[in-house]
Amino acid sequence: MKGPTVRFLGGVREIGGNKILIEDGPDRVLFDFGPSFSPRVEEFYVEYLQPRSTCRAKDLLEFDLVPRVSGLYSRESLGDGDLPYAEPEVHAVFVSHAHADHAGYLDLIDPAIPVHVGEGTRTLLTAIETSTRMKYGEHPWRLFRDRTPVRVGGIEVIPYPVDHSIPFAYGFLVRTSEGTLAYTGDFRHHGPRAADTHAFFAAVAQEKVDALLIEGTRAGPDPRRNLTEAGVRSAVDRVLKERPELALACTYPRDIDRLRTLHAAALAADRDLIVSVRTAHLLAQVAPRFPSGEIPVPGQSPGLKVYARKKRVSYLWERPFLEDALPAEGVRDRGRKYLLALDLAHFPELIDLRPPKGSPFIHSMSEPFSEDDVDDRVMHNWLEHFGLEFHQMHASGHASHSELLDLVRLTGARTVYPIHTEHPEAFEKAGPSVQLPELGVPYSLAG
Ligand SMILES: [Zn+2]
Ligand SMILES: [Zn+2]
Repeated sequence: MKGPTVRFLGGVREIGGNKILIEDGPDRVLFDFGPSFSPRVEEFYVEYLQPRSTCRAKDLLEFDLVPRVSGLYSRESLGDGDLPYAEPEVHAVFVSHAHADHAGYLDLIDPAIPVHVGEGTRTLLTAIETSTRMKYGEHPWRLFRDRTPVRVGGIEVIPYPVDHSIPFAYGFLVRTSEGTLAYTGDFRHHGPRAADTHAFFAAVAQEKVDALLIEGTRAGPDPRRNLTEAGVRSAVDRVLKERPELALACTYPRDIDRLRTLHAAALAADRDLIVSVRTAHLLAQVAPRFPSGEIPVPGQSPGLKVYARKKRVSYLWERPFLEDALPAEGVRDRGRKYLLALDLAHFPELIDLRPPKGSPFIHSMSEPFSEDDVDDRVMHNWLEHFGLEFHQMHASGHASHSELLDLVRLTGARTVYPIHTEHPEAFEKAGPSVQLPELGVPYSLAG
């Protein structure tokens, strides 16, 4: 095929795992590179059985869990597998945001290939690497700025900030030698940065793009309840004011908006929000990227404390928070003064915390999609054992079905490719411009 093309190497009929390759003459640019959440991966790799860290690409390629692209993977990660190492044939990787399903396979990529991320995303990735086992590999990191074009050969990429459930999320406008494209990344417009999402789609509409690559996490039937971020705030307010006991909450560890919401609600109810050491580290790292005072910082902001889990060893990055951290007994004795954000993985702390029966537990995450979700069953077993009262309060990181259709119509894109969705056909209601992409097939951008 002559002229610029786009190929979907992941994120087709699945949520997450976006891998989008744009080719224009000699120039090749990849957008996002992360594992999918689809059950297909779990047919081979599960929590206790993972690809070997010495040759991850080889072990994933064995089952076609990553695409066979020459000149993309590092020599080390290919090992002696059947895809031979080749000098870089991909010239840049752009990452829309720091969620694992978009950035989680960066460590497989040849360390000679530049990786472009927002400045804030780089901060997030570093904080995640420091405080978890996640690794993103060595790369020439290139930091892009909002709405400032980046050139890779003949391809021009303009990053636009969008609202999502992790800060520093971007959509992109891409201009090639013949034809333009917009890639939304993941987005919503019911969060605190809704105006950014509106501005991005206005730019997409104005550009009259040839192709719109739009995420559709919530396209199609979705019975799960959804609030706005402001709606979560008033729901949490209600629980905290009505209940005299220790309040517990769990949320996604990088959802800074939700942490801000929980902190503000705790303050208004004359409580302190207590976070894990890992969350404390993340907040301290990202705070300088925001206007002063916007992000609560442990040790500086009122109404924010850190929880001390009993551990045998502490890491260097944990130490700044440990001296003033609250142990379980301290939380238990003054329960009504606290809102404790607890990761599901830290539920054994409940054995020490012993919250009074009927204490509220705020589940500020997505509801499970299927009824036989194992993690959900385990969580409810714990809640039932301790007699905790379950409250569901969440604002999704993604636009709703009807919002997605409205946006498709608004942009007037010549061709629309729904990705990052299990229901791409749900977009067909938006008109004849919708084309359901197939994995690995090149689509021409030229009009
Ligand atoms: Zn995603
Ligand atoms: Zn995301």
